[in-house]
Amino acid sequence: MVHGDGTVFWVHLDSNVSVSSNDEKLLFFTITDITQERKSRDTIQYLADYDTLTGLANRHLLKDRIKQAITASTRSKIFGAIIFVDIDHFKTLNDIHGHSFGDVLLVEIALRLRANIRESDTVGRQGGDEFILLLNNLSPDISEAAIMALHLSEKLQTEMAVPFDLNGLEYHCKISMGIALIENGANVDELLQHADIALYQAKEAGRNTLRFFDPAMQEALNLQVTLESELSDALKHDELRLYYQPQVNVEGKIIGVEALIRWQHPQRGIVVPNDFIPFCEINGMILPIGNWVLHTACVQLKKWEQHPTACNFYVAVNVSAKQFRQPDYVSLVKTTIDHYQINPSLLKLELTESLILDNIVDTIQKMHELKRLGITFSMDDFGTGYSSLAYLAKLPLDQLKIDKSFVDNVPGARSDEMITRTIITMGIELEMNVIAEGVETQIQKDFLLKHGCTTYQGYLFSRPLPIEQLEELMNS
Ligand code: C2E
Ligand code: CA
Ligand code: CA
Repeated sequence: MVHGDGTVFWVHLDSNVSVSSNDEKLLFFTITDITQERKSRDTIQYLADYDTLTGLANRHLLKDRIKQAITASTRSKIFGAIIFVDIDHFKTLNDIHGHSFGDVLLVEIALRLRANIRESDTVGRQGGDEFILLLNNLSPDISEAAIMALHLSEKLQTEMAVPFDLNGLEYHCKISMGIALIENGANVDELLQHADIALYQAKEAGRNTLRFFDPAMQEALNLQVTLESELSDALKHDELRLYYQPQVNVEGKIIGVEALIRWQHPQRGIVVPNDFIPFCEINGMILPIGNWVLHTACVQLKKWEQHPTACNFYVAVNVSAKQFRQPDYVSLVKTTIDHYQINPSLLKLELTESLILDNIVDTIQKMHELKRLGITFSMDDFGTGYSSLAYLAKLPLDQLKIDKSFVDNVPGARSDEMITRTIITMGIELEMNVIAEGVETQIQKDFLLKHGCTTYQGYLFSRPLPIEQLEELMNS
Protein backbone atom coordinates (compact mmCIF):
# COMPACT_ATOMS: atom_id res chain seq x y z
CA MET A 1 0.00 0.00 0.00
CA VAL A 2 1.04 3.63 -0.32
CA HIS A 3 1.20 6.23 2.47
CA GLY A 4 -0.13 9.75 1.99
CA ASP A 5 3.46 10.96 1.50
CA GLY A 6 4.02 8.42 -1.28
CA THR A 7 6.14 5.88 0.61
CA VAL A 8 5.26 2.28 -0.02
CA PHE A 9 4.59 -0.01 2.90
CA TRP A 10 3.77 -3.67 3.32
CA VAL A 11 0.56 -4.74 5.06
CA HIS A 12 -0.97 -7.93 6.26
CA LEU A 13 -4.69 -8.18 5.55
CA ASP A 14 -7.01 -10.26 7.76
CA SER A 15 -10.71 -10.60 7.08
CA ASN A 16 -13.47 -11.66 9.46
CA VAL A 17 -17.12 -12.23 8.79
CA SER A 18 -19.60 -11.70 11.56
CA VAL A 19 -23.34 -12.06 11.47
CA SER A 20 -25.43 -9.24 12.95
CA SER A 21 -28.68 -9.64 14.85
CA ASN A 22 -30.79 -9.07 11.70
CA ASP A 23 -28.86 -11.81 9.91
CA GLU A 24 -26.77 -9.42 7.79
CA LYS A 25 -23.22 -10.59 7.10
CA LEU A 26 -20.58 -7.99 7.95
CA LEU A 27 -17.04 -8.20 6.64
CA PHE A 28 -14.23 -6.75 8.83
CA PHE A 29 -10.65 -6.17 7.75
CA THR A 30 -7.67 -5.83 10.07
CA ILE A 31 -4.67 -4.13 8.47
CA THR A 32 -1.25 -4.55 10.07
CA ASP A 33 1.79 -2.64 8.87
CA ILE A 34 4.51 -5.30 8.44
CA THR A 35 7.09 -3.21 6.58
CA GLN A 36 9.68 -3.57 9.33
CA GLU A 37 9.18 -7.29 9.57
CA ARG A 38 9.40 -7.61 5.80
CA LYS A 39 12.62 -5.59 5.71
CA SER A 40 14.27 -7.75 8.31
CA ARG A 41 13.13 -10.85 6.46
CA ASP A 42 14.74 -9.52 3.25
CA THR A 43 17.90 -8.78 5.21
CA ILE A 44 17.92 -12.26 6.66
CA GLN A 45 17.39 -13.72 3.19
CA TYR A 46 20.20 -11.51 1.84
CA LEU A 47 22.52 -12.60 4.62
CA ALA A 48 21.61 -16.21 3.94
CA ASP A 49 22.44 -15.90 0.22
CA TYR A 50 25.14 -13.28 -0.15
CA ASP A 51 28.61 -12.63 1.17
CA THR A 52 28.51 -9.37 3.15
CA LEU A 53 32.06 -8.29 2.33
CA THR A 54 31.95 -8.65 -1.46
CA GLY A 55 28.22 -8.80 -2.19
CA LEU A 56 28.81 -11.99 -4.17
CA ALA A 57 26.69 -15.12 -3.90
CA ASN A 58 27.76 -17.20 -0.91
CA ARG A 59 28.35 -20.93 -0.87
CA HIS A 60 24.71 -21.63 -0.08
CA LEU A 61 23.26 -19.68 -3.03
CA LEU A 62 26.02 -20.89 -5.29
CA LYS A 63 25.26 -24.53 -4.57
CA ASP A 64 21.67 -23.82 -5.43
CA ARG A 65 22.65 -22.23 -8.73
CA ILE A 66 25.03 -25.08 -9.54
CA LYS A 67 22.24 -27.54 -8.93
CA GLN A 68 20.01 -25.62 -11.36
CA ALA A 69 22.86 -25.47 -13.86
CA ILE A 70 23.31 -29.24 -13.73
CA THR A 71 19.60 -29.79 -14.37
CA ALA A 72 19.64 -27.34 -17.27
CA SER A 73 22.80 -28.84 -18.74
CA THR A 74 21.43 -32.38 -18.50
CA ARG A 75 18.35 -31.25 -20.38
CA SER A 76 20.05 -29.14 -23.05
CA LYS A 77 23.18 -31.35 -23.42
CA ILE A 78 25.26 -28.16 -23.33
CA PHE A 79 28.31 -28.28 -21.11
CA GLY A 80 29.01 -25.67 -18.48
CA ALA A 81 31.91 -25.37 -16.05
CA ILE A 82 32.81 -24.33 -12.56
CA ILE A 83 36.09 -22.68 -11.78
CA PHE A 84 37.65 -22.45 -8.33
CA VAL A 85 39.75 -19.34 -8.01
CA ASP A 86 42.23 -19.04 -5.17
CA ILE A 87 44.51 -16.10 -4.39
CA ASP A 88 48.16 -17.10 -4.12
CA HIS A 89 49.91 -16.06 -0.89
CA PHE A 90 46.84 -14.36 0.53
CA LYS A 91 47.80 -15.35 4.05
CA THR A 92 51.13 -13.57 3.71
CA LEU A 93 49.36 -10.35 2.71
CA ASN A 94 47.11 -10.60 5.74
CA ASP A 95 50.00 -11.43 8.06
CA ILE A 96 52.20 -8.58 6.92
CA HIS A 97 49.72 -5.78 6.24
CA GLY A 98 46.73 -6.75 8.34
CA HIS A 99 43.22 -7.92 7.54
CA SER A 100 41.93 -4.59 6.29
CA PHE A 101 44.30 -4.86 3.32
CA GLY A 102 43.17 -8.40 2.72
CA ASP A 103 39.54 -7.29 2.73
CA VAL A 104 40.17 -4.54 0.19
CA LEU A 105 41.88 -7.08 -2.06
CA LEU A 106 38.94 -9.48 -1.80
CA VAL A 107 36.51 -6.71 -2.75
CA GLU A 108 38.66 -5.62 -5.69
CA ILE A 109 39.06 -9.18 -6.92
CA ALA A 110 35.31 -9.72 -6.67
CA LEU A 111 34.84 -6.65 -8.91
CA ARG A 112 37.30 -7.90 -11.52
CA LEU A 113 35.79 -11.37 -11.57
CA ARG A 114 32.32 -9.97 -11.96
CA ALA A 115 33.38 -7.68 -14.79
CA ASN A 116 34.68 -10.63 -16.81
CA ILE A 117 31.75 -12.99 -16.83
CA ARG A 118 28.50 -12.99 -18.73
CA GLU A 119 25.15 -11.93 -17.28
CA SER A 120 24.02 -15.54 -17.16
CA ASP A 121 27.02 -16.69 -15.10
CA THR A 122 27.50 -16.49 -11.34
CA VAL A 123 30.49 -15.53 -9.19
CA GLY A 124 30.46 -16.53 -5.58
CA ARG A 125 32.77 -16.33 -2.63
CA GLN A 126 33.06 -19.53 -0.80
CA GLY A 127 34.77 -18.01 2.19
CA GLY A 128 38.40 -17.11 2.85
CA ASP A 129 40.28 -16.26 -0.31
CA GLU A 130 38.39 -18.71 -2.50
CA PHE A 131 35.96 -17.71 -5.24
CA ILE A 132 33.82 -19.89 -7.47
CA LEU A 133 32.67 -19.08 -10.97
CA LEU A 134 29.72 -20.86 -12.47
CA LEU A 135 29.68 -20.73 -16.28
CA ASN A 136 26.47 -21.81 -17.95
CA ASN A 137 25.85 -22.97 -21.51
CA LEU A 138 29.38 -23.12 -22.88
CA SER A 139 29.07 -25.57 -25.76
CA PRO A 140 27.48 -28.88 -26.73
CA ASP A 141 30.97 -30.02 -27.70
CA ILE A 142 33.01 -31.12 -24.68
CA SER A 143 36.40 -30.02 -25.95
CA GLU A 144 35.05 -26.70 -27.13
CA ALA A 145 33.47 -26.16 -23.70
CA ALA A 146 36.82 -26.95 -22.12
CA ILE A 147 38.61 -24.52 -24.40
CA MET A 148 36.10 -21.79 -23.61
CA ALA A 149 36.58 -22.33 -19.87
CA LEU A 150 40.32 -22.31 -20.42
CA HIS A 151 40.23 -19.05 -22.34
CA LEU A 152 38.16 -17.35 -19.67
CA SER A 153 40.59 -18.55 -17.00
CA GLU A 154 43.54 -17.23 -18.95
CA LYS A 155 41.77 -13.92 -19.36
CA LEU A 156 41.20 -13.76 -15.62
CA GLN A 157 44.89 -14.39 -15.00
CA THR A 158 45.75 -11.49 -17.29
CA GLU A 159 43.21 -9.23 -15.56
CA MET A 160 44.57 -10.09 -12.14
CA ALA A 161 48.11 -9.32 -13.28
CA VAL A 162 47.22 -5.61 -13.36
CA PRO A 163 48.46 -4.33 -9.94
CA PHE A 164 45.87 -3.60 -7.24
CA ASP A 165 45.81 -0.38 -5.27
CA LEU A 166 45.23 -1.40 -1.64
CA ASN A 167 44.90 1.83 0.34
CA GLY A 168 47.88 3.21 -1.55
CA LEU A 169 49.86 -0.02 -1.51
CA GLU A 170 50.61 -1.36 -5.00
CA TYR A 171 49.94 -5.07 -4.80
CA HIS A 172 50.75 -7.72 -7.39
CA CYS A 173 48.37 -10.60 -7.14
CA LYS A 174 48.44 -14.03 -8.71
CA ILE A 175 45.69 -16.61 -8.76
CA SER A 176 45.43 -20.37 -9.18
CA MET A 177 42.42 -22.03 -10.72
CA GLY A 178 40.82 -25.45 -10.82
CA ILE A 179 38.23 -26.20 -13.50
CA ALA A 180 35.59 -28.93 -13.66
CA LEU A 181 33.12 -29.29 -16.48
CA ILE A 182 29.44 -29.63 -15.69
CA GLU A 183 28.45 -32.85 -17.34
CA ASN A 184 25.25 -34.74 -17.78
CA GLY A 185 23.86 -35.92 -14.46
CA ALA A 186 26.68 -34.54 -12.30
CA ASN A 187 26.22 -34.05 -8.58
CA VAL A 188 26.87 -30.73 -6.85
CA ASP A 189 29.18 -31.93 -4.10
CA GLU A 190 31.13 -34.16 -6.45
CA LEU A 191 31.53 -31.30 -8.87
CA LEU A 192 32.80 -28.94 -6.16
CA GLN A 193 35.18 -31.63 -5.05
CA HIS A 194 36.49 -32.11 -8.58
CA ALA A 195 37.16 -28.40 -9.02
CA ASP A 196 38.83 -28.41 -5.62
CA ILE A 197 41.12 -31.30 -6.59
CA ALA A 198 42.00 -29.49 -9.79
CA LEU A 199 42.76 -26.34 -7.80
CA TYR A 200 44.95 -28.31 -5.46
CA GLN A 201 46.87 -29.69 -8.44
CA ALA A 202 47.26 -26.19 -9.83
CA LYS A 203 48.76 -25.04 -6.51
CA GLU A 204 51.01 -28.09 -6.44
CA ALA A 205 52.21 -27.27 -9.92
CA GLY A 206 53.65 -24.03 -8.60
CA ARG A 207 50.74 -21.59 -8.35
CA ASN A 208 49.66 -18.89 -10.80
CA THR A 209 48.44 -21.73 -12.97
CA LEU A 210 45.30 -23.65 -13.79
CA ARG A 211 44.29 -27.29 -14.03
CA PHE A 212 41.36 -29.29 -15.32
CA PHE A 213 39.87 -32.01 -13.20
CA ASP A 214 39.76 -34.69 -15.87
CA PRO A 215 43.31 -35.94 -16.51
CA ALA A 216 42.48 -37.08 -20.04
CA MET A 217 41.01 -33.68 -20.75
CA GLN A 218 44.01 -32.00 -19.16
CA GLU A 219 46.26 -33.94 -21.48
CA ALA A 220 44.15 -33.12 -24.52
CA LEU A 221 44.24 -29.48 -23.48
CA ASN A 222 47.98 -29.47 -23.01
CA LEU A 223 48.22 -30.61 -26.61
CA GLN A 224 45.76 -27.93 -27.71
CA VAL A 225 47.65 -25.24 -25.85
CA THR A 226 50.91 -26.31 -27.45
CA LEU A 227 49.29 -26.48 -30.86
CA GLU A 228 47.67 -23.10 -30.35
CA SER A 229 50.98 -21.50 -29.53
CA GLU A 230 52.57 -23.12 -32.59
CA LEU A 231 49.76 -22.25 -34.94
CA SER A 232 50.77 -18.69 -35.66
CA ASP A 233 54.02 -20.14 -37.01
CA ALA A 234 52.11 -22.60 -39.17
CA LEU A 235 50.90 -19.83 -41.45
CA LYS A 236 54.23 -18.04 -41.45
CA HIS A 237 56.20 -21.22 -42.17
CA ASP A 238 53.77 -22.43 -44.80
CA GLU A 239 52.74 -25.57 -42.94
CA LEU A 240 49.06 -25.57 -43.88
CA ARG A 241 47.90 -27.91 -46.66
CA LEU A 242 44.68 -28.20 -48.55
CA TYR A 243 43.54 -31.77 -49.22
CA TYR A 244 40.80 -32.52 -51.69
CA GLN A 245 38.13 -35.17 -51.32
CA PRO A 246 36.36 -36.15 -54.54
CA GLN A 247 32.60 -35.87 -54.91
CA VAL A 248 31.23 -38.29 -57.46
CA ASN A 249 28.09 -38.95 -59.52
CA VAL A 250 26.19 -42.23 -59.95
CA GLU A 251 28.83 -43.59 -62.34
CA GLY A 252 31.55 -42.81 -59.81
CA LYS A 253 32.95 -39.99 -61.96
CA ILE A 254 34.49 -37.06 -60.11
CA ILE A 255 32.42 -33.90 -60.54
CA GLY A 256 34.01 -31.77 -57.85
CA VAL A 257 36.00 -31.80 -54.63
CA GLU A 258 35.69 -30.60 -51.07
CA ALA A 259 38.75 -28.74 -49.82
CA LEU A 260 39.73 -29.94 -46.35
CA ILE A 261 42.51 -28.33 -44.40
CA ARG A 262 45.45 -30.18 -42.82
CA TRP A 263 48.41 -28.95 -40.83
CA GLN A 264 51.71 -30.49 -41.81
CA HIS A 265 53.35 -30.18 -38.41
CA PRO A 266 57.16 -30.35 -38.41
CA GLN A 267 57.23 -32.87 -35.51
CA ARG A 268 53.76 -34.32 -35.24
CA GLY A 269 53.08 -34.99 -38.89
CA ILE A 270 49.58 -34.40 -40.24
CA VAL A 271 47.25 -32.70 -37.74
CA VAL A 272 43.53 -33.01 -38.63
CA PRO A 273 41.24 -29.98 -38.51
CA ASN A 274 39.22 -31.16 -35.52
CA ASP A 275 42.40 -30.76 -33.46
CA PHE A 276 42.96 -27.12 -34.35
CA ILE A 277 39.94 -25.52 -36.07
CA PRO A 278 37.86 -25.33 -32.83
CA PHE A 279 40.33 -23.11 -31.01
CA CYS A 280 41.01 -21.11 -34.16
CA GLU A 281 37.32 -20.22 -34.13
CA ILE A 282 37.56 -19.03 -30.56
CA ASN A 283 40.83 -17.10 -30.79
CA GLY A 284 40.11 -15.58 -34.20
CA MET A 285 42.93 -17.34 -36.08
CA ILE A 286 40.21 -18.82 -38.32
CA LEU A 287 40.10 -15.48 -40.16
CA PRO A 288 43.61 -15.57 -41.64
CA ILE A 289 43.38 -19.35 -42.02
CA GLY A 290 40.00 -19.20 -43.75
CA ASN A 291 41.42 -16.57 -46.05
CA TRP A 292 44.35 -18.82 -46.87
CA VAL A 293 41.94 -21.66 -47.69
CA LEU A 294 39.90 -19.45 -50.02
CA HIS A 295 43.00 -18.20 -51.82
CA THR A 296 44.47 -21.69 -52.18
CA ALA A 297 41.18 -23.06 -53.51
CA CYS A 298 41.00 -20.25 -56.08
CA VAL A 299 44.57 -20.89 -57.20
CA GLN A 300 43.62 -24.53 -57.75
CA LEU A 301 40.50 -23.61 -59.70
CA LYS A 302 42.61 -21.34 -61.91
CA LYS A 303 45.13 -24.11 -62.59
CA TRP A 304 42.38 -26.57 -63.47
CA GLU A 305 40.97 -24.21 -66.11
CA GLN A 306 43.60 -25.64 -68.44
CA HIS A 307 43.00 -29.28 -67.48
CA PRO A 308 40.94 -31.43 -69.91
CA THR A 309 38.84 -33.16 -67.21
CA ALA A 310 39.24 -30.96 -64.14
CA CYS A 311 38.19 -27.77 -65.93
CA ASN A 312 34.59 -28.42 -64.87
CA PHE A 313 35.28 -29.48 -61.28
CA TYR A 314 33.91 -27.26 -58.60
CA VAL A 315 35.75 -26.76 -55.33
CA ALA A 316 33.69 -26.70 -52.13
CA VAL A 317 35.18 -24.68 -49.30
CA ASN A 318 34.11 -24.85 -45.64
CA VAL A 319 33.23 -21.50 -44.14
CA SER A 320 33.22 -21.01 -40.39
CA ALA A 321 30.73 -18.80 -38.60
CA LYS A 322 33.30 -16.25 -37.52
CA GLN A 323 34.44 -15.78 -41.12
CA PHE A 324 30.95 -15.47 -42.50
CA ARG A 325 29.89 -12.96 -39.85
CA GLN A 326 32.67 -10.52 -40.71
CA PRO A 327 30.95 -7.37 -41.99
CA ASP A 328 33.18 -7.32 -45.09
CA TYR A 329 32.95 -11.04 -45.87
CA VAL A 330 31.15 -10.53 -49.19
CA SER A 331 33.64 -7.98 -50.47
CA LEU A 332 36.50 -10.19 -49.31
CA VAL A 333 35.21 -13.06 -51.44
CA LYS A 334 34.56 -10.74 -54.36
CA THR A 335 38.09 -9.33 -54.23
CA THR A 336 39.50 -12.84 -54.20
CA ILE A 337 37.54 -14.13 -57.19
CA ASP A 338 38.31 -10.94 -59.11
CA HIS A 339 41.98 -11.24 -58.25
CA TYR A 340 42.29 -14.80 -59.58
CA GLN A 341 39.76 -14.30 -62.37
CA ILE A 342 38.09 -17.61 -61.69
CA ASN A 343 34.66 -18.79 -62.78
CA PRO A 344 32.62 -18.07 -59.62
CA SER A 345 30.09 -20.80 -60.37
CA LEU A 346 32.82 -23.37 -59.69
CA LEU A 347 33.37 -22.04 -56.18
CA LYS A 348 30.97 -23.60 -53.71
CA LEU A 349 30.71 -22.38 -50.14
CA GLU A 350 29.70 -24.93 -47.52
CA LEU A 351 27.75 -23.33 -44.72
CA THR A 352 26.64 -25.43 -41.79
CA GLU A 353 23.05 -25.53 -40.73
CA SER A 354 23.90 -24.01 -37.35
CA LEU A 355 25.77 -21.10 -38.95
CA ILE A 356 22.80 -20.37 -41.18
CA LEU A 357 20.25 -20.50 -38.38
CA ASP A 358 22.34 -18.53 -35.91
CA ASN A 359 21.60 -15.19 -37.55
CA ILE A 360 19.14 -15.83 -40.30
CA VAL A 361 18.69 -12.21 -41.39
CA ASP A 362 22.41 -11.59 -41.89
CA THR A 363 22.73 -15.00 -43.54
CA ILE A 364 19.99 -14.45 -46.10
CA GLN A 365 21.34 -11.04 -47.03
CA LYS A 366 24.95 -12.18 -47.46
CA MET A 367 23.98 -15.33 -49.31
CA HIS A 368 21.98 -13.34 -51.82
CA GLU A 369 24.84 -10.91 -52.36
CA LEU A 370 27.30 -13.76 -52.91
CA LYS A 371 24.81 -15.53 -55.13
CA ARG A 372 24.67 -12.42 -57.34
CA LEU A 373 28.43 -12.80 -57.80
CA GLY A 374 27.73 -16.26 -59.22
CA ILE A 375 28.88 -18.33 -56.25
CA THR A 376 27.05 -21.53 -55.26
CA PHE A 377 26.11 -22.88 -51.81
CA SER A 378 25.85 -26.19 -50.07
CA MET A 379 24.28 -26.69 -46.66
CA ASP A 380 26.70 -28.83 -44.68
CA ASP A 381 25.73 -31.22 -41.88
CA PHE A 382 22.11 -30.97 -43.00
CA GLY A 383 19.63 -32.64 -40.68
CA THR A 384 21.54 -31.96 -37.47
CA GLY A 385 19.87 -28.60 -36.74
CA TYR A 386 16.35 -27.36 -36.85
CA SER A 387 15.87 -25.89 -40.30
CA SER A 388 12.31 -25.22 -41.16
CA LEU A 389 11.00 -25.63 -44.65
CA ALA A 390 10.05 -21.94 -44.64
CA TYR A 391 13.71 -20.90 -44.21
CA LEU A 392 15.01 -23.41 -46.68
CA ALA A 393 12.82 -22.03 -49.41
CA LYS A 394 14.13 -18.50 -48.72
CA LEU A 395 17.81 -19.42 -48.94
CA PRO A 396 19.56 -19.43 -52.30
CA LEU A 397 21.00 -22.92 -51.72
CA ASP A 398 22.16 -25.16 -54.54
CA GLN A 399 22.81 -28.27 -52.52
CA LEU A 400 21.89 -30.08 -49.32
CA LYS A 401 24.55 -32.28 -47.78
CA ILE A 402 23.18 -35.20 -45.76
CA ASP A 403 25.24 -35.41 -42.60
CA LYS A 404 27.52 -38.40 -42.12
CA SER A 405 25.81 -39.30 -38.85
CA PHE A 406 22.68 -40.34 -40.81
CA VAL A 407 24.57 -41.98 -43.66
CA ASP A 408 26.46 -44.08 -41.08
CA ASN A 409 23.26 -45.89 -40.09
CA VAL A 410 21.53 -46.52 -43.38
CA PRO A 411 20.17 -48.91 -44.24
CA GLY A 412 19.22 -50.28 -40.86
CA ALA A 413 18.24 -47.64 -38.32
CA ARG A 414 14.66 -46.70 -39.08
CA SER A 415 14.75 -43.08 -37.94
CA ASP A 416 17.99 -42.37 -39.84
CA GLU A 417 16.53 -44.01 -42.92
CA MET A 418 13.48 -41.81 -42.60
CA ILE A 419 15.49 -38.61 -42.13
CA THR A 420 17.69 -39.50 -45.09
CA ARG A 421 14.69 -40.16 -47.33
CA THR A 422 13.00 -36.95 -46.18
CA ILE A 423 16.09 -34.84 -46.91
CA ILE A 424 16.34 -36.33 -50.39
CA THR A 425 12.66 -35.61 -51.07
CA MET A 426 12.98 -32.07 -49.76
CA GLY A 427 16.01 -31.44 -51.97
CA ILE A 428 14.20 -32.72 -55.03
CA GLU A 429 11.10 -30.64 -54.25
CA LEU A 430 13.20 -27.51 -53.71
CA GLU A 431 15.15 -28.24 -56.90
CA MET A 432 18.45 -28.60 -55.07
CA ASN A 433 21.12 -31.20 -55.57
CA VAL A 434 21.48 -33.62 -52.66
CA ILE A 435 24.87 -35.07 -51.75
CA ALA A 436 25.56 -37.67 -49.07
CA GLU A 437 28.82 -37.42 -47.11
CA GLY A 438 30.66 -40.20 -45.31
CA VAL A 439 29.60 -42.92 -47.75
CA GLU A 440 31.79 -45.89 -46.89
CA THR A 441 29.99 -48.93 -48.32
CA GLN A 442 28.29 -50.01 -51.51
CA ILE A 443 25.20 -50.89 -49.46
CA GLN A 444 24.93 -47.27 -48.27
CA LYS A 445 25.32 -46.01 -51.81
CA ASP A 446 22.65 -48.40 -53.09
CA PHE A 447 20.21 -47.23 -50.42
CA LEU A 448 20.88 -43.58 -51.25
CA LEU A 449 20.52 -44.15 -54.98
CA LYS A 450 17.30 -46.11 -54.53
CA HIS A 451 15.80 -43.08 -52.80
CA GLY A 452 17.00 -40.57 -55.35
CA CYS A 453 20.35 -39.26 -54.05
CA THR A 454 22.82 -39.27 -56.92
CA THR A 455 25.90 -37.43 -55.61
CA TYR A 456 28.26 -38.91 -53.04
CA GLN A 457 31.39 -38.24 -51.05
CA GLY A 458 33.16 -40.73 -48.81
CA TYR A 459 35.88 -43.29 -48.30
CA LEU A 460 34.08 -45.70 -50.67
CA PHE A 461 35.27 -43.44 -53.48
CA SER A 462 38.31 -41.72 -52.00
CA ARG A 463 39.74 -40.22 -48.85
CA PRO A 464 40.78 -36.56 -48.88
CA LEU A 465 44.03 -36.44 -50.86
CA PRO A 466 46.93 -34.05 -51.37
CA ILE A 467 46.74 -32.44 -54.81
CA GLU A 468 49.40 -34.68 -56.42
CA GLN A 469 47.56 -37.85 -55.40
CA LEU A 470 44.23 -36.44 -56.49
CA GLU A 471 45.64 -35.65 -59.93
CA GLU A 472 47.05 -39.19 -60.16
CA LEU A 473 43.59 -40.54 -59.35
CA MET A 474 42.01 -38.24 -61.95
CA ASN A 475 44.40 -39.38 -64.64
CA SER A 476 44.08 -43.09 -63.89
P1 C2E B 1 33.07 -31.62 -42.61
O1 C2E B 1 32.95 -30.37 -43.42
O2 C2E B 1 31.80 -32.29 -42.21
O3 C2E B 1 34.00 -32.56 -43.45
C1 C2E B 1 33.81 -33.92 -43.65
C2 C2E B 1 34.74 -34.71 -42.78
O4 C2E B 1 34.41 -36.11 -42.89
C3 C2E B 1 36.19 -34.62 -43.22
O5 C2E B 1 36.99 -34.72 -42.05
C4 C2E B 1 36.37 -35.86 -44.06
O6 C2E B 1 37.72 -36.29 -44.12
C5 C2E B 1 35.52 -36.84 -43.30
N1 C2E B 1 35.05 -37.92 -44.16
C6 C2E B 1 34.72 -37.84 -45.46
N2 C2E B 1 34.29 -39.03 -45.91
C7 C2E B 1 34.35 -39.87 -44.87
C8 C2E B 1 34.03 -41.27 -44.70
O7 C2E B 1 33.60 -41.97 -45.62
N3 C2E B 1 34.23 -41.80 -43.46
C9 C2E B 1 34.69 -41.05 -42.42
N4 C2E B 1 34.87 -41.67 -41.24
N5 C2E B 1 35.00 -39.76 -42.55
C10 C2E B 1 34.81 -39.17 -43.76
P2 C2E B 1 38.15 -33.69 -41.81
O8 C2E B 1 38.87 -33.43 -43.08
O9 C2E B 1 38.91 -34.21 -40.65
O10 C2E B 1 37.40 -32.36 -41.43
C11 C2E B 1 36.68 -32.27 -40.25
C12 C2E B 1 35.96 -30.96 -40.16
O11 C2E B 1 36.87 -29.87 -40.07
C13 C2E B 1 35.11 -30.64 -41.37
O12 C2E B 1 33.92 -31.34 -41.28
C14 C2E B 1 34.97 -29.15 -41.27
O13 C2E B 1 33.94 -28.83 -40.36
C15 C2E B 1 36.28 -28.72 -40.64
N6 C2E B 1 37.16 -28.19 -41.69
C16 C2E B 1 37.95 -28.86 -42.55
N7 C2E B 1 38.58 -27.98 -43.37
C17 C2E B 1 38.15 -26.74 -43.04
C18 C2E B 1 38.41 -25.42 -43.54
O14 C2E B 1 39.16 -25.20 -44.49
N8 C2E B 1 37.78 -24.38 -42.92
C19 C2E B 1 36.91 -24.59 -41.88
N9 C2E B 1 36.32 -23.54 -41.36
N10 C2E B 1 36.65 -25.81 -41.41
C20 C2E B 1 37.25 -26.88 -41.97
CA1 CA C 1 32.09 -29.69 -45.18
CA1 CA D 1 29.73 -32.24 -42.88
